[in-house]
Amino acid sequence: MSSQKSNVVAIIVGAGRGVRAGGDVPKQWQALAGRRVADWSVDAFLNHPDINNVVLVHHPDDAAEVATLPTSIAKCVGGETRGQSVLAGLEFSERFNPDQVLIHDIARPCVTNAMISDCLEALRHSSAAALGVKVQDAIWHSSRNKVSHTVDRTRLWRAQTPQAFAFNQILQAHQNQNHDAKDDVEVAREAGIEVTIIDGDDSNLKITTPSDFLKAAQILRGNMDIRVGNGFDVHRFEDGDHVILCGIKIPHEKSLKGHSDADVAMHAITDAIYGALAQGDIGQHFPPSDPKWAGADSSIFLRHAANLASEHGYTIQNIDCTIVCEMPKIGPVSLEMRENLSKIINLSTDRISVKATTSEKLGFTGRGEGISSLATATLVSK
Ligand code: MG
Repeated sequence: MSSQKSNVVAIIVGAGRGVRAGGDVPKQWQALAGRRVADWSVDAFLNHPDINNVVLVHHPDDAAEVATLPTSIAKCVGGETRGQSVLAGLEFSERFNPDQVLIHDIARPCVTNAMISDCLEALRHSSAAALGVKVQDAIWHSSRNKVSHTVDRTRLWRAQTPQAFAFNQILQAHQNQNHDAKDDVEVAREAGIEVTIIDGDDSNLKITTPSDFLKAAQILRGNMDIRVGNGFDVHRFEDGDHVILCGIKIPHEKSLKGHSDADVAMHAITDAIYGALAQGDIGQHFPPSDPKWAGADSSIFLRHAANLASEHGYTIQNIDCTIVCEMPKIGPVSLEMRENLSKIINLSTDRISVKATTSEKLGFTGRGEGISSLATATLVSK
């Protein structure tokens, strides 16, 4: 085998109408664990480091839905049958000049990184391989609703996708086939291509009926890595005429003292994100001893934390910040603060909360000596 890295294309077949799953729109565009079925299926391949191109084969009526998918995905229109759609996807993919192809049904959104890796590993030793699960239940033949005989299940497997092939071989096999095959393994077999079975997993289920959505959501939520971080900060007052909180300048009889712009609220939020990532705090990333950060706009820190979250494979799901002070009044500018934070970390305002409390005139905040702030951030793996 050549040690040169293969050029791999993943074709996601999503041109069907999925009538058995119910709902107002085809199943691939229905909601599942906070996203759409298609988003989960496509992302699994988009996020795999060894997949060079992802091609979605879609129905011509789904152009509006397709337009909302990442631009890094290539899209092409499928045919009337599954076989025609796969062939359309294969012929479209020729432009990428791939050596290998993984063909996957869009209705299997729980496919994992490891399953994709297993398919690619199998292709190092054979020209075709596919995931399957050994049949565990007894299998019957029936006649007029009565068991006629029991089938020997020891050599029976349930087929799954992805199914993986040497690109040119499966392209040719599809071009030569003249009936609608159940899957690409059947097409390959009819062309004389030997297909290796890879151990799959029941979690890689195909969404077929309405109850499958619930099962798939439980699996996907179980795979999620959810992280929570907290942040806390205090800045004391000094002479001045305004404070900056969450990037908003608010007139006040004093200002906050600090090395940067002393945005105590934005610092707490930034530390909450670093905390969720177990990546230290602001002081570690932007040392106060470094004159470069004197008077710095704190949005630099927050943007850095948000980018770090993305680099580590997390999306920020929500932020909750509490500002503790007697004055100035936060309520009137709270929405403006949320909108500003929303722009910096690219998160919608309905996932950002900024609220305030006094400390009942107790302690340093109660005496008006400074402002403190607490924040919580939730991050979820992409
Ligand atoms: Mg600070």
